Amino acid sequence: APLRHMSADAGAAMEKIRAAGLLRTQGLIAGQWVDAYDGKTIEVQNPATGDVLANVACMGSRETSDAIASANSTFYSWSKLTANERSKALRKWYDLIIAHKEELALLMTLEQGKPMKEALGEPVGVVGAITPWNFPLAMITRKVGPALACGCTVVVKPSEFTPLTALAAADLALQAGIPAGALNVVMGNAPEIGDALLQSTQVRKITFTGSTAVGKKLMAGSANTVKKVSLELGGNAPCIVLDDADIDVAVKGSLAAKFRNSGQTCVCANRILVQEGIYEKFASAFIKAVQSLHVGNGLEESTSQGPLINEAAVQKVEKFINDATSKGANIMLGGKRHRLGMTFYEPTVVGNVSNDMLLFREEVFGPVAPLIPFKTEEEAIHLANDTNAGLAAYIFTKSIARSWRVSESLEYGLVGVNEGIISTEVAPFGGVKQSGLGREGSKYGVDEYLECCCSSDMSVLECTTAAQVYLHG
Ligand code: NAD
Repeated sequence: APLRHMSADAGAAMEKIRAAGLLRTQGLIAGQWVDAYDGKTIEVQNPATGDVLANVACMGSRETSDAIASANSTFYSWSKLTANERSKALRKWYDLIIAHKEELALLMTLEQGKPMKEALGEPVGVVGAITPWNFPLAMITRKVGPALACGCTVVVKPSEFTPLTALAAADLALQAGIPAGALNVVMGNAPEIGDALLQSTQVRKITFTGSTAVGKKLMAGSANTVKKVSLELGGNAPCIVLDDADIDVAVKGSLAAKFRNSGQTCVCANRILVQEGIYEKFASAFIKAVQSLHVGNGLEESTSQGPLINEAAVQKVEKFINDATSKGANIMLGGKRHRLGMTFYEPTVVGNVSNDMLLFREEVFGPVAPLIPFKTEEEAIHLANDTNAGLAAYIFTKSIARSWRVSESLEYGLVGVNEGIISTEVAPFGGVKQSGLGREGSKYGVDEYLECCCSSDMSVLECTTAAQVYLHG
C-alpha cells in the first residue's frame, strides 16, 4: 500500500527524501554536518540508471581524527547514563527509522539498487563502524544499536557507494536525542579513514563488515594498539538439497537464499549441492522458478531483481562464468548481461559445476546459481566444508535425523534447515574459519561492546530490545 502512489522516477523519489529533510551529503562530526576540509566530494550513483544522485563529502584522516576526538569526549557523559536512559534515545531512534522507513528504503533502492520490497522488509539485527554497501542500513544499525546501548560512542564509515542511507539514519539518531558526538559519520577515502581509526589509541574497538581481504588488513592493523576486533566477512554458503527434500520447499528456499539482493549477500547460497536422485527434478523446477524473477529498476513494484552495484561486479560475474564454461560447466539459464544494459545481469543457472571452478571456490556475489551434483551425505559434507569460508549453510530434507546429522558436520556459523532466509535479531549471527570473528544480534552481539561480558547486569533486555533497530536493507 505505501508504494501504490509512488513514482518510479528517481527524481521524484529524491524530492521525497529531500522534502523529509533526509538528503544529507556532509559528514557528521560532533553533531555538526560538515564538508570535507579540502572541499572534495565524490559522486553517489544509481546503479540502475547511472544517474548521479548526489555529490557527498570525500573525507580523510583529518576529519576522522576530529570524529574520534568528538566520540572520545562524549564517551564520558554517554557511558555514565544508565542503560535505561540510553535505551530511551535508542527506542526513539527506532521509532523514527520506522516512521521514515519509506524514505530510507527509497534511498537504499536508489543508491544500491535493491527492489523496494526487499528494502522495506521486517526488523532483524544490530550495529558498528566500517560497513559495506550491500545492506546500507542494517549493517550500520546492527553495530550502532548495541554499541550505543552499552555506552560506547561511535564513528561510522559507511561504504562510499551507499553513504546517503547512512547519513539519513544518523540524522534520525540526532533527532531522537542521541547526543552530539555519540554517533559520528565520516566517508570518502577508505584506506585513509581506516588508518586513522586503526592508529588512534582512543578507538578501542573496530567492528567491520565487508570482504575477507579488507577484514584481514584491519585485524592486522589493530594489533599495534591492541584493539578489540569483530569481523563479519565473506561467505561461500553451500545449499544442500538431499534426495528426500520437499521440492517446492527446496526451490523456494534456494531461490530466496541465492537471488535476494541480486545475489549480493554474505549469506547468499553460493553453491547449490543437489543429490543425484533428485538433481534433474530439482534443476527443472528451480529453473522455472528463476525464470519467474522480474529484472528491473528497484523503484518498480514488479521488480524482484535489481542491478548489480557497479560495472566491476558485472565483470567479476563474467569472469566466473567464463572460467566455469571453460572447465566443462553448462549454462542452463541466462549467462549474460540483461537487455536492460547498465549493471543488470540475467538470473543465471549453471549446471555441473565442480570444485576446481571459481564459482565453487569464491563468492560470485551476483545472480548466478551453480548446481553441483553429489552422491552421498558424506560427499555433500566434504564438498560443503571444502572452503576457507564458514558463514551460512542451508540444508533441505524432510528427515529430522538427517538435518541434525548433516548440520552438525557443517563448519558454519549459521545453518538454515528448510529455510532460505536465516538471520533474525534474536539469534547470534557470525561466521567461523575466515568468515569472521565475534557475533552480532542477540545478547552475544551486545557483549561484543562490553569490556567484560556482564550484560546480564545491565538490564540487557531493555538495551537489546532497544538495539534491535533494523530494516532489512
Ligand atoms: P569491502 O571490504 O570492499 O568494503 C567494506 C567497507 O570497508 C567499505 O566501507 C569500504 O570503504 C571499507 N574499506 C575498504 N578498504 C578499506 C581499508 N583499507 N581500510 C578501511 N576500510 C576499508 O566490502 P564490500 O564490497 O563493501 O562488501 C561486500 C563484502 O562484504 C562481501 O565479501 C560480503 O560477503 C561481505 N559481507 C559480509 C557480511 C557478514 O555479515 N558476514 C554482511 C554483508 C557483507
